[in-house]
Amino acid sequence: MGIAIVTGASRGIGAAIAEKLAAEGHDVVLNCASNAAKAEAVAEKCRAHGGKALVKVWDVSDHAACEKAVQEVKEELGVPSILVNNAGITRDGLMVRMKEDQFDEVISINLKGAYNMLQVCGAMMMRAKAGRIVNISSISGMVGNAGQINYCAAKAGLIGMTKTAAKELGPRGVTVNAVAPGFIDTDMTEGLADALKENAKKQISLGRFGKPEEIAEAVAFLASDKASFVTGQVLVVDGGMI
Ligand code: NAP
Repeated sequence: MGIAIVTGASRGIGAAIAEKLAAEGHDVVLNCASNAAKAEAVAEKCRAHGGKALVKVWDVSDHAACEKAVQEVKEELGVPSILVNNAGITRDGLMVRMKEDQFDEVISINLKGAYNMLQVCGAMMMRAKAGRIVNISSISGMVGNAGQINYCAAKAGLIGMTKTAAKELGPRGVTVNAVAPGFIDTDMTEGLADALKENAKKQISLGRFGKPEEIAEAVAFLASDKASFVTGQVLVVDGGMI
């Protein structure tokens, strides 16, 4: 099977994606920003499926660090065949009160970080004439969300980037798609006010938040041979919210 790089795989959605891809028989590389011990625990579960799992700590917003990490992956495991751009953060606040660094930090990790990895892995996949790239966007990037102008801009940008990369890489056999989750139970949503969570649930047809594993299933489909003729698409997985 292939070699999958999953950014932000120490917890939440990224951890579930890494485990699912390992269960499907891929070797996996788990990236995170600082929580190496948590990522190692996820890697251990991945190895139980029989393949290799490496933990690599680097900041996806740092282009040189992305280049170095992917080069190491190539030397240690081989050319990556799957890239999942999942690493992301929130720094919420209303637009008129938002500080410049709150905006810049979210754009540099959530958007430029994905670009960095797309560029580095995309070049290798083009040469290999094969590859699957899945970018984790958000329904917030499709419909907007008060208090998240930085995050919504990044997630909308990721959709534009997905469609452009799909056009550039398609002729070389590489597909690029996005998954747009709705509210999912992870650390990212845990801190939200109870009233906001209850209000959100009222807008979700299925009446609940999703589980990380439910996003991982969609990613695994897009990363598989079953999705060989799907590219440039955004798959919304939100329990019927938008
Ligand atoms: P999470 O639980 O907060 O985990 C975030 C992950 O990103 C962690 O592994 C973290 O590593 C990593 N990370 C953060 N900054 C990084 C950086 N600069 N370089 C490398 N890794 C970095 O988040 P989540 O809820 O699973 O979300 C995963 C993705 O899904 C994000 O892109 C998020 O925007 C998107 N999403 C989430 C929801 C939701 O409701 N949860 C909805 C829509 C979209 P450390 O552990 O080392 O900090």
